[in-house]
Amino acid sequence: MKISLLTGALLLSTAVLAQAQQAGKPEDTEVYEPVPKVVTASPNLATPPSDALVLFDGKDLSQWVMADDRNAPAKWKVSGGMFTVDKTTGNIETKKAFTNYQLHLEWRIPANISGTGQARGNSGVFLASLGKGDLGYELQIVDSYQNKTYVNGMAGSIYKQRVPLANPARKPGEWQSYDVVWMAPTFKADGSVQTPARVTVFFNGVLVQNNVELAGPTRYIGPPSYEGQKAGPAPIKLQAHGDKSEPDSFRNIWVREL
Ligand code: MG
Repeated sequence: MKISLLTGALLLSTAVLAQAQQAGKPEDTEVYEPVPKVVTASPNLATPPSDALVLFDGKDLSQWVMADDRNAPAKWKVSGGMFTVDKTTGNIETKKAFTNYQLHLEWRIPANISGTGQARGNSGVFLASLGKGDLGYELQIVDSYQNKTYVNGMAGSIYKQRVPLANPARKPGEWQSYDVVWMAPTFKADGSVQTPARVTVFFNGVLVQNNVELAGPTRYIGPPSYEGQKAGPAPIKLQAHGDKSEPDSFRNIWVREL
């Protein structure tokens, strides 16, 4: 009895040892390089982290140009730490172009907003501007607080392509936020898609687009496709929508290239 217990214990410890040897040492799976760069975090997302490029700090539109004439400075009106869409001048976009990035942006539908459906505080963030007009990938801005429209055209949607997972819209007059991770599409040498664009969006801190794949840039009519698209960095564009409702405002915009 004594002997068989001892034998058993020996066999067991041998088995444990063999297993440990097979799995290696804990250190084998510890990674030390490359060391991630140090970024000084901010107390909240309205304040950019230390490595962000500030696209609007409340003072001026020096980081922006007119989308239809990139030589012209952005003409939207800056006042009180925010800027407001000027529908008579057209879309504005960033001077700089970006490929993959993290973006924070705050927007506000005016408290006195009028109109219905899509014609109620409509603007938008083109995550990659593809030129003049509304060419690009539009993250929709529109009043979605008790304002009915098609669900793939509400706030938090990738316009006419991806319905948001939830509707965390605040009332007109209240500031709202988008936090976006944009991964640009890549293309093969023959122009076909290698990896489609992917986007993640938090709307007022609520996840509304979860790393979704896009089928191409936004189209007002017809299904999206990548036909004729090119790779490379693109500006971020804000929409001066042609509806008759009161114009939206923006503040606290920053971007981190990935
Ligand atoms: Mg829009």
